[in-house]
Amino acid sequence: MTYKEVKLVSLDNKNKQKNIVKLGNVCIGAGKPVIIAGPCAVESEEQINDAALSLKKIGVDILRGGCFKPRTSPYTFQGLEEEGIKMLSKAGKENNLPVISEVITIKQLEFAYDYLDIIQIGSRNMYNYPLLKELGTLNKPVLLKRAFSATYDEWIFAAKYILNSGNDKVILCERGIRTFEQGTRNTLDISAVPYISNNTNFPIIIDPSHASGYSEFIKPLSLAAIAAGADGLMIEAHPEPKNALCDARQSLNFDEFEDVYNAVHTLSDSCANL
Ligand code: PEP
Ligand code: MN
Repeated sequence: MTYKEVKLVSLDNKNKQKNIVKLGNVCIGAGKPVIIAGPCAVESEEQINDAALSLKKIGVDILRGGCFKPRTSPYTFQGLEEEGIKMLSKAGKENNLPVISEVITIKQLEFAYDYLDIIQIGSRNMYNYPLLKELGTLNKPVLLKRAFSATYDEWIFAAKYILNSGNDKVILCERGIRTFEQGTRNTLDISAVPYISNNTNFPIIIDPSHASGYSEFIKPLSLAAIAAGADGLMIEAHPEPKNALCDARQSLNFDEFEDVYNAVHTLSDSCANL
């Protein structure tokens, strides 16, 4: 049975209505692109406060910062874990920004739940069905990243694990898939935007940072995502990208980020008339 054959309100897209996810006055899927930005990882109180203050000034809607980092190598920085979650939450509250961070286990979820506004499920955990079922019992938005090699059906089914357990506040995030191409970190599958929009009611956002691996690719890929109709973007930005403990090469500084932010909104305003 494919997802199309499974009847569920949130996947019955005959009326093409997005299932808008609301966080205070931020609405994901309501037409205006929602911008999530912040460092790959929370590294210190100073770093995340700097990011929150600078990004809020630019106009960012939601602050990101990884704390339980699912690093490919066990020898690299693994994140500040619980302490990082507290720092992120504090920086968000002080700057009136909702916050998002990834959890990998149910135990981490139990700890982080009260501190986060959106729970991020990373690419490596898209198939973690017990975790997805647990998220379904909660009343909190979930950002579900596509696994590197997941088909649309597998990704949508993963989202349905959350939905079927009772939580329909699901946002999908395309973050690049693994192909034969080695020139970029991953290959951004831009078709995911119209595919998800045409076949489901989930809002769909693009992460150009993990999709490309290069800071200079963030602007063109962000614009492509917005032109394709994405509901938002998640972009890595750091006070000092060169010194970032995680994903330095793909991180923008705040001036570079502001340029992308402005270009995205200019394009989005003109797309509204198309
Ligand atoms: C992230 O966004 O911090 C991350 C680890 O991304 P992904 O799960 O897409 O690799
Ligand atoms: Mn990263």
